[in-house]
Amino acid sequence: MTGNLIEIFSSAQGEGPYIGRRQVFVRFEGCNLKCWYCDTACTIGSHLQCAVETLKPEEPDFFVQNPVSVEDAAGYIQNLLDVVPHHSVSFTGGEPLLHAEFIAAVAERISAPVFLETNGTLPEKLKKILPYVDIVSMDVKPPSAVGEDLWARHRVFLETAARKDVYVKLVVAEDLTETEFAKTCRMIADVSADIPLILQPVTLRDGSVPLRAASLLEMQARALRVLRDVRLIPQAHTMMGIR
Ligand code: SF4
Repeated sequence: MTGNLIEIFSSAQGEGPYIGRRQVFVRFEGCNLKCWYCDTACTIGSHLQCAVETLKPEEPDFFVQNPVSVEDAAGYIQNLLDVVPHHSVSFTGGEPLLHAEFIAAVAERISAPVFLETNGTLPEKLKKILPYVDIVSMDVKPPSAVGEDLWARHRVFLETAARKDVYVKLVVAEDLTETEFAKTCRMIADVSADIPLILQPVTLRDGSVPLRAASLLEMQARALRVLRDVRLIPQAHTMMGIR
């Protein structure tokens, strides 16, 4: 089995409740959505090679040809885990669940928990690999972000993910509507009011947040009327100068 990968590297998580945790990142090509604010060039076939970090001064970082085999990918990940203790391995993209079988096969060969950063729209794929997944970071993609109605798929996905350590992340952009925000809160509350909701204000490339603090606090207050754990956490990659 093989997968089309963009990069395998070690860094700190820059979003959500695990912010700052050291992780190995495995970034896949390919996504089933087209969000207007997407910052990842991940079309399938657009990366002929995958960049691999080593964390060893005596072994320079290198590139390998795509697609990469399960055995090789697991080996590159485990090498990083052996050099520095990591909290978990983040499978990201693109949409990692397009490569669900690949992730399950890699998970069997590595020694760290599996952290899935997903757009939360492929519940059948999640069900297949749920035993291999430890933490689910699920994005909610409202119609204003993707131009299609994904509520039903999000709902089934969250019901499945709720069997694991899961949190929901909503990117707050200027065009997020009141209805979309209310629907997000209601959907989570219907599954469990204890599932954390992370409100992540959209961050511009220069690191600034174009939304008013007062309106973000008001949104948090509204969400807290139906959910027990609602946090305002901006993207921290730019602040920390990490990728
Ligand atoms: S789901 Fe993520 S990777 Fe896919 S288009 Fe949206 S932001 Fe980009």
